[in-house]
Amino acid sequence: MRDITHFIDGAAVAGTSGRFGDVFNPNTGEVQARVALASAAELDAAVAAAVRAQQVWALANPQRRARVMFDFKRLVEANMNELAELLSSEHGKVIADSKGDLQRGLEVIEFACGIPHALKGEYTEGAGPGIDVYSMRQPLGVAAGITPFNFPAMIPMWMFGIAIAVGNAFILKPSEKDPSVPVRLAELMMEAGAPKGVLNVVHGDKAAVDAILDHPDIKAVSFVGSSDIAHYVYSRGAAAGKRVQAMGGAKNHGVILPDADIDQAVKDISGAAFGSAGERCMALPVVVPVGQKTAEVFREKMLAEIETLKVGVSTDAAAQYGPVVSAAHRQKIADYIQLGVDEGAELVVDGRGFNLQGYEQGFFMGPSLFDQVKPGMRTYQEEIFGPVLQIVRAGTFEEAVRLPSEHPYGNGVAIFTRNGRAAREFAAKVNVGMVGINVPIPVPVAYHTFGGWKRSAFGDTNQHGMEGVKFYTKVKTVTARWPEGLSEDSAFVIPTMG
Ligand code: NAD
Repeated sequence: MRDITHFIDGAAVAGTSGRFGDVFNPNTGEVQARVALASAAELDAAVAAAVRAQQVWALANPQRRARVMFDFKRLVEANMNELAELLSSEHGKVIADSKGDLQRGLEVIEFACGIPHALKGEYTEGAGPGIDVYSMRQPLGVAAGITPFNFPAMIPMWMFGIAIAVGNAFILKPSEKDPSVPVRLAELMMEAGAPKGVLNVVHGDKAAVDAILDHPDIKAVSFVGSSDIAHYVYSRGAAAGKRVQAMGGAKNHGVILPDADIDQAVKDISGAAFGSAGERCMALPVVVPVGQKTAEVFREKMLAEIETLKVGVSTDAAAQYGPVVSAAHRQKIADYIQLGVDEGAELVVDGRGFNLQGYEQGFFMGPSLFDQVKPGMRTYQEEIFGPVLQIVRAGTFEEAVRLPSEHPYGNGVAIFTRNGRAAREFAAKVNVGMVGINVPIPVPVAYHTFGGWKRSAFGDTNQHGMEGVKFYTKVKTVTARWPEGLSEDSAFVIPTMG
């Protein structure tokens, strides 16, 4: 059995806790490796290495740190095929989608290549008589990231790309379900010229997460995962005096107005609902057609579209999506489908019982479609995170705005229409953090920022872009004067510049 080890201070480090997690190949259902699960003492060793490394790394000028990012990008590109295959073998998404996972992460690295520009401070000459004021952004020290299984390359790069470029050292605690790619990325970061200890990978479960949240030398924690755990991480980290940004789950809606290009909307929604087996926080599992006719046409065309979908192994270039991540997750999705039936929704297509010949033990799940889903149903309120599309019919535009706005999650939302005025009104009014207009998965580009609202994010700073720079730095503001000649009298009144 292959062991997946920690990566601390530039080297592979075997786990000493005696605890391991199984890493499956979701295509075959077999355990292919075991990953070490860290104890608090192992985390301490990684933090100590990071503290040492950061003191030196922060002194490298921003251009030198940026050059490491340029080299890291080049190395990830050179190893793209190997990384994508490794990613697919542990996650189950198809190879082309794994390349997308890596590419979207690399786009944040590209942003980080411009870090000297982003780090320039502000300056006011003559803020008072002979007084200049300037500000600078300084690194925090050691930051940590705790990431989910569904984007094992992109989400770690969202975090460490910026954290390291601004001069921090980083501890990554990736998902224990697909831990190999994060380790390869850390190895490549060393090869790119980052000093040992600047990027460390510590595997683990709740014990490692709690150790991160309580460690006094970790100044900031970035988390992405499910909402209950996001809230827990936010509360415990903040109580320990840390900066915390904690992104949670999602239930994104796609609203279709009667004037939309329905064929295009069906194609877009099919990809956004079933791509990566629905295991994306920006998937589109709820569709809201406005008006009876829109709903009927959408349902008929989506049924035909679903019939064309090919579910296959990750390495099948013709497959649209692969297995889900684990047997337990597949069971959870199947339970939600049963709950939908029991709650009274109409199960139009049932993906349970799907079997792929030759891969009977793989964690495959066919696409499912529900109609007549109602807002009060648990299957509507909760995140399913599988290849299940739910139709919630709306009578009016106002109702279609209200549904995503009143939903407990608020990550992304999309509207499909040819009416610019309606789209503009929708974008302005909807109570959701990221909006797509005829764009089904509105994940912002790397130089903008990513973040949902309501139960989809706790904390006030988004991922990547300038928000990321802000999260991983603290501002120091200097007020300076160079007096000439005679000393002035002491001032006992608060100085003003008036
Ligand atoms: P998860 O919450 O189970 O795990 C996320 C991380 O938390 C992992 O590193 C895991 O080891 C750790 N963890 C698990 N249980 C813990 C506990 N009890 N205490 C402390 N830490 C714990 O999430 P997942 O299943 O890996 O990922 C899927 C979820 O992530 C979905 O809800 C999805 O919507 C969400 N997600 C959100 C975003 C976003 O940006 N909003 C992006 C991707 C995924």
